[in-house]
Amino acid sequence: MASMMQPQIILLKEGTDTSQGKAQLLSNINAVMAVGDVVRTTLGPRGMDKLIHDDKGSVTISNDGATIMKLLDIVHPAAKILVDIAKSQDSEVGDGTTTVVLLAAEFLKEAKPFVEDGVHSQNLIRSYRTASTLAIEKVKELAVSIEGKSVEEKKGLLAKCAATTLSSKLIGGEKEFFATMVVDAVMAIGDDDRLNLIGIKKVPGGNMRDSFLVDGVAFKKTFSYAGFEQQPKKFLNPKILLLNIELELKSEKENAEIRLSDPSQYQSIVDAEWNIIYDKLDKCVESGTKVVLSRLAIGDLATQYFADRDIFCAGRVAEEDLNRVAAAAGGTVQTSVNNIIPEVLGTCEIFEEKQVGGERFNIFSGCPSGRTATIVLRGGADQFIEEAERSLHDAIMIVRRAVKNSTVVPGGGAIDMEVSKYLRQHSRTIAGKSQLFINSYAKALEVIPRQLCDNAGFDATDVLNKLRQKHAMQSGEGASYGVDINTGGIADSYANFVWEPAVVKINAINAATEAACLILSVDETVKNPKSESAQGDAAAGAMGRGRGGGRGRGMRRR
Ligand code: ADP
Ligand code: MG
Repeated sequence: MASMMQPQIILLKEGTDTSQGKAQLLSNINAVMAVGDVVRTTLGPRGMDKLIHDDKGSVTISNDGATIMKLLDIVHPAAKILVDIAKSQDSEVGDGTTTVVLLAAEFLKEAKPFVEDGVHSQNLIRSYRTASTLAIEKVKELAVSIEGKSVEEKKGLLAKCAATTLSSKLIGGEKEFFATMVVDAVMAIGDDDRLNLIGIKKVPGGNMRDSFLVDGVAFKKTFSYAGFEQQPKKFLNPKILLLNIELELKSEKENAEIRLSDPSQYQSIVDAEWNIIYDKLDKCVESGTKVVLSRLAIGDLATQYFADRDIFCAGRVAEEDLNRVAAAAGGTVQTSVNNIIPEVLGTCEIFEEKQVGGERFNIFSGCPSGRTATIVLRGGADQFIEEAERSLHDAIMIVRRAVKNSTVVPGGGAIDMEVSKYLRQHSRTIAGKSQLFINSYAKALEVIPRQLCDNAGFDATDVLNKLRQKHAMQSGEGASYGVDINTGGIADSYANFVWEPAVVKINAINAATEAACLILSVDETVKNPKSESAQGDAAAGAMGRGRGGGRGRGMRRR
């Protein structure tokens, strides 16, 4: 491309691979569209799942855009941007990850013919940014607040949002069941920001419907020693002691060296060790606790000692579980058994060790602070439970978002159609090329309802025409019409409770536009050779593949 007539100026080292100009931009757009095509079919309640397996043999089945993008191991530098926006959507709002990838790909698909025709990408970028601002304003305007409702009413509304999120997942068949569970869990932790207060425990086996919510903490029985079976397994209002110390008789042979002159002294050393541990155990017992949990091991001596005194104990409790018990039961984790004052002991209404499927679970329910919840998930295959967990995570995030922002928009493509219509109308008021670009942006938004139809096997053209007509109605009463996933026609998404929190859409539009603009603004990719060719620097002499001189930015094209 560079003019070979001019003397060469060596700028980059030998082996540097550069590609630039329109061709590069188009190649980036194609790569992004290819990624969009991968996740396309997973959108919506009738979306398909992807099975991804890696060379280590681990298999993941997922419908979640972010998960799929992460596992795809994309190497194309431009397409990687999509992985990032999917991830950021996942961490910002938790849902809408497929939507965001699809939108970005569609924005670029619409931009492609313009680029081919020689439109400068800065013009496109400017129009896209304007369109995105307008779209977001419109979404905000159309959003309906669920503030000021009674708790019960609000719970019902939130469950609708959760159900919409879950409807596109493997567990969609039981969406009402899980939606209520998720709302209860989120309500339990209140406005605490720590997401890990909601625990999800997976127990393979049983039926999805056997899953249940504990208004407190539940974790799998930990490793236990002889004597454990003699301990009581149920308490009402027990005091709970949380420890971060080992309660084990240690033979100190590895850690200490003791010189004895008289063999009879040996016994006193052994006794001293026993005294230390008995002293610790006594202090635990004296505190009046009935349940002792420790992050570190509780050995056989301690287990038997507690059993004899009708105390339950569990050692090697995972840190997050211990912290959740602390948050829920109101105790503090102790690193010493000296001075156990009543304030550091937690409590709960019922502690119980229960059989769940093939596992035994320690369950603390009716915790005073009430700020934790644990969902115990049941189901067949491992992959199924894993995906169920990811789906619940999406739903939990959505409900939390809705609680915080409490505005919702109609889903099923309704909001996308309405914003699209608004942008089309707006574009007519603009003179110049920008009109075309904003129109393309508007058209790109229609990808959501179109893909929902395609994935469900409906005639997308037919449904979209009906939707366009409904949304064009002057009275505005068609504004919340979206794809009816059950009949293949159109329906009022708002009335059917297909709701999404407004932030999902706002964030998706924002992130997808940013990604599209980012890719449009790249006109050159430079690949640096491996640094091992350091000596290649010198060799990059006269024959080096440098860049042609005098080729400023202004000369990229033509
Ligand atoms: P994402 O990863 O983007 O959340 P999903 O596969 O969860 O993708 O699909 C979300 C889309 O499906 C949203 O546009 C939502 O409005 C739509 N949707 C969800 N439930 C329904 C339903 N019952 N009827 C119609 N559309 C629905
Ligand atoms: Mg979703």
